Amino acid sequence: MKPTTVTSEDSFRDHFSGVSEDGKRNWFYPQKPKGLWHHRRVLFTVFILIILFVTPFIKYNNQPLLLFNVLERKFIIFGLFIGPQDYWLFGLTMLSFMVFIVLFTIIFGRLWCGWACPQTVFMEMVFRKIEYAIEGDSGKQKLLNNAPWTGDKILKKAAKYSAFLLVSFVIANLLLSYVIGVDELSKIVSEPIDQHVPLFSGIVIFTAVFYFNFAWLRDQACTVVCPYGRLQGVLMDRNSIVVAYDYKRGEPREKLHKGQDRNAGDCISCFQCVAVCPTGIDIRNGTQMECVNCTACIDACDTMMDKVGFDKGLIRYTSENAIVSGVNKLITNRTRAYIVVLILLWSVLGYLVVSRNDTQTTLFRAPGSQYIENKDGTISNIYTFKIFNKTNKIVKPTIQLDSPKGTLLFAGKPDLTLDGAGMSEGTVFIIIPKSALKTRKTKLQLSVFQGKEKLETFETTFMAPE
Ligand code: SF4
Ligand code: SF4
Repeated sequence: MKPTTVTSEDSFRDHFSGVSEDGKRNWFYPQKPKGLWHHRRVLFTVFILIILFVTPFIKYNNQPLLLFNVLERKFIIFGLFIGPQDYWLFGLTMLSFMVFIVLFTIIFGRLWCGWACPQTVFMEMVFRKIEYAIEGDSGKQKLLNNAPWTGDKILKKAAKYSAFLLVSFVIANLLLSYVIGVDELSKIVSEPIDQHVPLFSGIVIFTAVFYFNFAWLRDQACTVVCPYGRLQGVLMDRNSIVVAYDYKRGEPREKLHKGQDRNAGDCISCFQCVAVCPTGIDIRNGTQMECVNCTACIDACDTMMDKVGFDKGLIRYTSENAIVSGVNKLITNRTRAYIVVLILLWSVLGYLVVSRNDTQTTLFRAPGSQYIENKDGTISNIYTFKIFNKTNKIVKPTIQLDSPKGTLLFAGKPDLTLDGAGMSEGTVFIIIPKSALKTRKTKLQLSVFQGKEKLETFETTFMAPE
């Protein structure tokens, strides 16, 4: 078979910008971004950071607004508690979230990556800013890294990495506040550490992970590790809105010379768009997997266009179809199909949430047991029961036989009080007068109450002589 020849136009796809020809890591020194889009991103970052840091402290019905306790499989999503019993609710929520992500990506490309992803927000807007403040812009950073270890270099590096460590520690605490809640997290401050060794170890481990991520891994978290980034190729299409270079307007690119009678395109080959790119790519090669849509190249190019008197927007938010034909269809048959699926999923989810009970009870006849005929003319069946609390609050349930009339006699004196997401189990006899039983197998209807509030209704069967 003939090997596929790659045209020189596509040859940039043969290599990964993060790795050099000799297989070593390409360490990027992006120039400090500035301009209108960067200003907008700074404002949005402040907004995002406020939301991120304030949300763990917001309580609704005495519980966190958001909690993702993967260790105990307890989740709270905007006040809705999802415990281990609600795996279907959790699965459906995740499924609808994924469909939403796909739909959002088809329409808006990697808008999330550039504006709201915590990796980009912290890397570009916090860690990179600390680096610029201590070591200076890209040229100075390069010089400092290649310089011998003088007192000044040691001081700058120590200051930078100490600040990185401190911010990593803060982010580790932030993450844990979403996993275990601020109340649990605050115990490490108010109580002796030896009572919270696992929690303390978690903070240390996450601090180390974040430090490694932001001090060393950086752009490779997006280009090598992140599955969302790697899925872009299959999610986006020619109508997706991305940061793109308008090659119809820009090509043929050519340097600008004074007094020149210019017949070339608007790209003046200044390479400013490449110099600011945190993932080291040339956006003029087209949409690439490495592009996190950070908008730095839009600002850099707009600044150059301004300087030479050309219209801004050579690099801008647009789609391939808009560049080629000037027309862009945001809502296509593909997006319509995803919208329908999403509406269906949300409808089912909404119904399940509204019709959900606070408890889930199972009551099965004890294995191998038969009915017992009592001397007082009643029949007894023996059952094992389990009651699960599907809320995050304490529930004190009582079980009642609705029909036919009869009594419940619990073995021992079980305490049915259920902790949040807790479970109680035991054995119970159901005793019914023989006269109330018409057939050998009777369907029983039972209810679970808390006080006067009915929490749940369920059924089981009762065996009696013919
Ligand atoms: S190509 Fe532009 S938008 Fe994409 S990562 Fe580089 S600078 Fe950011
Ligand atoms: S910044 Fe604009 S003009 Fe300069 S090389 Fe990039 S696309 Fe061309």
